[in-house]
Amino acid sequence: MSPTKIPGELSVSFRYTPGVGNTAFFEGLRDRAVFLGSRCEDCGVTSVPARIFCERCLAELEPSLECGPEGELVSWTLVRVDVDDQPLERPVTYGLVRLDGADTVLLHRLLHTGGEPAIGERVRAVFTSPREGSMLDVEGFAPVADGAGP
Ligand SMILES: [Zn+2]
Repeated sequence: MSPTKIPGELSVSFRYTPGVGNTAFFEGLRDRAVFLGSRCEDCGVTSVPARIFCERCLAELEPSLECGPEGELVSWTLVRVDVDDQPLERPVTYGLVRLDGADTVLLHRLLHTGGEPAIGERVRAVFTSPREGSMLDVEGFAPVADGAGP
């Protein structure tokens, strides 16, 4: 047994309310395949997903600025085990992507098919169809050089 785990089970029932900013963000993904962010003119920071207030200065924000669908790969990792430390059937690559126009990053799957991702490379969101209003409306991010994307 790993020393970082304590065996046990918790039964938790909950309802997550996305709020105004995230609702706009998810509706943007579902209805228009766009990433909605919010820009704080006081701080000069654009956050994605959209927020209704600035996390730095608490200014009121509008969830209305479209960012991406392309961006820069900021970091990535290869995952070989699940949350229970069991080997995955196939490794999954995750990346942090800073969408064009945004200052924050999104975590999502990378869809690279050959070779390792490169920090700083251009990637583009690949959307699913039909979309339902969740982060899974984005299949992941593919290298722009591959010509993938909408
Ligand atoms: Zn601010």
